[in-house]
Amino acid sequence: MSNFNRQKIVDSVPQKGFFGHPKGLFTLFFTEFWERFSYYGMRAILVYYMYYEVSKGGLGLDENLALSIMSIYGSLVYMSGVIGGWLADRIFGTSKAVFYGGIFIMLGHIVLAVPGSVTMFFVSMVLIVLGTGLLKPNVSTVVGELYSETDDRRDAGFTIFYMGINLGAFLAPLIVGTVGMNYNFHLGFGIAALGMLLGLILFVVTKKKNLGLAGTTVANPLSPAEKKKVYTWIGLGVVVLAILCAVLIPAGLLTFESFINIVTILGVLIPTMYFIIMYRSPKTTAVERSRVIAYIPLFIASVMFWSIQEQGSTILANYADKRTQLDWMGIEISPAWFQSLNPLFIIIFAPIFAWMWVKLGKRQPTIPQKFSLALLFAGLSFLVILVPAYLGGTDSLVSPMWLVLSYLIVVFGELCLSPVGLSATTKLAPAAFSAQTMSLWFLSSAAAQALNAQIVKFYTPETEMTYFGGIGGASIVLGILLMILAPKIQGFMKGIR
Ligand code: GLU
Ligand code: ASP
Repeated sequence: MSNFNRQKIVDSVPQKGFFGHPKGLFTLFFTEFWERFSYYGMRAILVYYMYYEVSKGGLGLDENLALSIMSIYGSLVYMSGVIGGWLADRIFGTSKAVFYGGIFIMLGHIVLAVPGSVTMFFVSMVLIVLGTGLLKPNVSTVVGELYSETDDRRDAGFTIFYMGINLGAFLAPLIVGTVGMNYNFHLGFGIAALGMLLGLILFVVTKKKNLGLAGTTVANPLSPAEKKKVYTWIGLGVVVLAILCAVLIPAGLLTFESFINIVTILGVLIPTMYFIIMYRSPKTTAVERSRVIAYIPLFIASVMFWSIQEQGSTILANYADKRTQLDWMGIEISPAWFQSLNPLFIIIFAPIFAWMWVKLGKRQPTIPQKFSLALLFAGLSFLVILVPAYLGGTDSLVSPMWLVLSYLIVVFGELCLSPVGLSATTKLAPAAFSAQTMSLWFLSSAAAQALNAQIVKFYTPETEMTYFGGIGGASIVLGILLMILAPKIQGFMKGIR
C-alpha cells in the first residue's frame, strides 16, 4: 500500500475516543474479544466433549486420539491464516474478510450446539478453521492501519488489543466451561455461537463510524486475467479434493490417523517453503537475506514455546480432569476453569512486563535473549509438574496448585515471546513479504501444534514423568543454546533491535 493511501486511511479514522486511542480500536477490541471468547470457550470443553463417554454426553473417542485432534485443530486454525491473509490482500480486503470469517465461525459453533455425531463435529471444524483463518490475522492487520507510521501510540494499541484477546479467553472457560461441563456440552457451544454473534453485530454496527476506510482497500488486487486463473485453480482444487475424499475415505485410506499425519507434514512443510521462497526471492536484498537467516532460530524457538503453551489446553486439560483433586477446600472445581488461568495471568502481568522493559530501556534483553528466556520458563513449567508425581507417585490425585504454578510460569515465558514475536516478524521479514507477516508469525503456532499432534500420543499418566521431563528438558536445552547463540543471531539481524 502506498504511503498516500495509508495516510488517507488514518485520516478517515476518528483518532480519539477509546482510552486516548483511535475509536476504531474499540470496534476491533470487542470483535476480537468475542471471537476469542467463542474460540477459547469452545476449546475449554471440546476436549472433554470428544473423549467423555456417550452416556455422559460426549462422543466417546479414544483419549489420545482426542488430544491429537485438538492439536491438529489448533494447527489448522492458524495455518488457514495464510489463506485468509491472501484472500484479504488480493480479493476482498480485511474488513470483509473479518465479516465473512465471523459468519463461518458462528455457523461452526451452531453446528456443535446441535446434538450430533462425529461427522457434524468435522463439519463444524471445517467452518471454524476457515472462519478463523479469515478473521484472526486480518483483524490484527486492521489494528495496524489505525495508526500513522510515526504514531507513538501504536505499540500501546497492540497491547490493549492483546488484553482484549485475553479478556475473552479468560471469561469464556468460566461461562462456556461451567455451562458446558455442568449442564450440557451443546448448550456451552451455543453460548460460544452467541458470543460470536454479538461480536459480529458490534462489528457491523460500529465499523462505518469507527473504522472509516480502514480495512476497505484491497492492498494488491488481482488483475482480471489473474482472477480467472485463480478461480479456475480454486475450482479445480475443490473438485480434486472432493474426489480424493470420496475415493479414499470409503477405501479406508484416509483415516483419522493418516489425516493427522498429513497435517503434521504440512505444518512443517509450509513454513519451510516460506523461508526458502523468502530467501531466494530476487526481491529480497542482501541485508534482508541475512535477517531471514536470523529469523530461522527465532522461529524454531517459537515453535518449541507454543508447543508447550498449547499443551495447556490438551495435556494439562487432561491432567486437570484425571490427575487433579477437583474437590478442593470445599470448592467443586470444573476442569475447564483451568483454561482461564493463562489469560488471567497474562492480564495481570502484561502491564508489569511492559513497564519493566521500558524501565530497563537499553539494558533490556535483546530479542533472541527474550526468546531464550521464554524457552527456559516454558521448560520449567513442565518440570514443576514432575514434582507431585515424584513425591506422591502417579496414582494419587495432586493439588490443583501445581497446575496453577505451571500455568503461571509459562505465562512469564509467553510475555517474553508473544508480544515481541509479531513485531520482530514485521521487522525481519523482507519488505516484499510484509503483507504476509501476520500469517507467518501464526505459522509458528501452526507448526507447534502440528508437531503436538504426534507428541501427545505418547502421554499417559504412567509415562508422565518421562513425558514432562523430556519435553521440559528439551525446551531448557534449546533455551540455553539460544542464549549462547544470541549475540551471533543479533549480528545477522543487521541493526534490528
Ligand atoms: N493466545 C494468543 C491469541 O489467541 C496468541 C496466539 C498465537 O500466537 O499462537 O491470540
Ligand atoms: N494467552 C493466550 C493468547 O494470548 C490465550 C490462552 O491461551 O488462553 O491469546
